[in-house]
Amino acid sequence: MQNKPKIYEGTCIVRGKGYGKAVIVDSQAEAISMVKILPENIATEIERFEKSRMQAKKYYEDYSKSMLSKSKEYAEISIVEMYKYILNDPILTKQVLENISKELMTAETAVRLVAKNTIETFQAMEDEYFRDRDKDVQEVADRMLFYLSSSGGEEPKTFACDVVLFLKRSLMLSDIIGNDIEKIKAIVCASSGKTSHAVIVARSNSIPVISDINFSNAEIEDGCEVLVDSDMGIFTINPSKAALDTYYAYVHEKNLRKHGMPNFLKYPVFTGDGMPVLVMSNVSIESDAFLAAESGADGIGLVRTEILFTESMEFPTESDQIKFYESIFNKIGKDKSVCIRVMDIGGDKMAKFLPVPEEKNPFMGWRAVRIYRDKSDILETQLRAIFKAGQGKKYGIMFPMITTSSEWDYLREFTLKTAKEMGIQCPELGVLFEVPLAILEITTFLETLSFASIGTNDLIQYLSAADRSNSRVNYLYNPIEPAFLKIIKTAIEECNTKGKPISMCGDMAARPECTVLLLGLGLTRFSVSPPMIPIIKEIVSSVSLMKLKEETNHMLLNMKSTEEVANWLDYMNSKYCKHIFEKYRFVPRTREL
Ligand code: PEP
Ligand code: MG
Repeated sequence: MQNKPKIYEGTCIVRGKGYGKAVIVDSQAEAISMVKILPENIATEIERFEKSRMQAKKYYEDYSKSMLSKSKEYAEISIVEMYKYILNDPILTKQVLENISKELMTAETAVRLVAKNTIETFQAMEDEYFRDRDKDVQEVADRMLFYLSSSGGEEPKTFACDVVLFLKRSLMLSDIIGNDIEKIKAIVCASSGKTSHAVIVARSNSIPVISDINFSNAEIEDGCEVLVDSDMGIFTINPSKAALDTYYAYVHEKNLRKHGMPNFLKYPVFTGDGMPVLVMSNVSIESDAFLAAESGADGIGLVRTEILFTESMEFPTESDQIKFYESIFNKIGKDKSVCIRVMDIGGDKMAKFLPVPEEKNPFMGWRAVRIYRDKSDILETQLRAIFKAGQGKKYGIMFPMITTSSEWDYLREFTLKTAKEMGIQCPELGVLFEVPLAILEITTFLETLSFASIGTNDLIQYLSAADRSNSRVNYLYNPIEPAFLKIIKTAIEECNTKGKPISMCGDMAARPECTVLLLGLGLTRFSVSPPMIPIIKEIVSSVSLMKLKEETNHMLLNMKSTEEVANWLDYMNSKYCKHIFEKYRFVPRTREL
């Protein structure tokens, strides 16, 4: 008789579903031992420590090499670079050596103590990103402890069947990269940051992750069957046959969608009245470009390049950057155009190599192109790398956070000059409109730019003076606010009249609830996250642009509140998109945009 299903709850960190046999991994961390060594053993302990450090270094070096040969994501490689950096850190090494030679600790205890103190320092930091760095220190310490406790090297763990990893500690990168990745169908762990490197890699390998599990309450045994539904934040031990049937139907449907996508969705689509519409993809890490190609993207409308700068301890060299851009060009294919946005660090995306003095209001502070005024070498290196990678490719370069036309003139001229010095023809240059002053002055910009894009994420925030991460003022942060719709309509019409392509790459474009509205405002270029491409294309191809424009103009003349617009949108979606939402099992949430 089958054991009864037991369901446990946790927090969804990486979405998805997975099924396999449980593999329980206990914490490497042990209590700090107070046993002292004899003074004559100091040299032996130091030698053991140095040996484990070298073994760990070699492990990460071999890993980087194998990743490079598989042309894996730059993000993954740079994470490993961070581990090597920690291993080489002279202050941490000195602390370990002092613990051994002065405090007479064993090498294990010395490493544990330094790791513990460093982790506590990170955990006390306010910034979530830095708090998550504690996992990197733990990762490196665990690897050294592994070598200290064993006599030799380690083969990656291979699994005989699909598994779900249960980590009675925080998720670490070596849980994924040191193992048989293909067989890891999900991860359940005691804790995990949302921006930790391990999470980035789990996401790019489509491994669902659930965190915040209290293992003392969960009855899990090695080898038992587990079904993880991270979308619901739950996992089930001994799932019922019915639950497994639903899971297999999900896998089947996912495969069908991926491989059996109707042919017409692989190309640019047309509205019912014949207007071509491009549905492109946003890309933040290299694997997104692969997903974009698989999902039928008509190009890449936004490459966020911050990962290059936020994941590296040092300023990424020209050749590091070239690899990243080349990989994106290769994954999307030579016929599709790519729009690369120059670095948008600052605000919530800090770069480790560039210490930014504390600011009272970082989103309104020294970020993105504002940094280039003081540090033009950062821009120059990035431009040179893009130019080199982009030779013979269809691409453009976009500038974020532009506020005034003189700022744009300076950057455009700087870019043209850099291209000229390299003897390279400059690609098309465009502006990301996400600051109110700039979008209100779009006519002036149109004289010199080649293309425009609307960044609704920041634009709404700055127009409504409402921080989108602050739930108390969330009611003001709303893309269907009539005043906001009028501003973007004017910008779109202005571009359409002047024959300059305009797209939208903020989150609003990726909301299928808003597709008919945006078409009605005259938008014919969308840039969205890859999974949203097929549904948006289907909506586009089933409506008439002229009709939507008429209905949207009428709405804008008559409606004054977001509530009225939401009601109108519900009506429009039930009239035009109901069958498509049903087909994609998409639940519209017009009031939570
Ligand atoms: C935006 O602000 O809409 C945008 C696309 O930029 P990001 O989300 O990267 O700030
Ligand atoms: Mg932005």
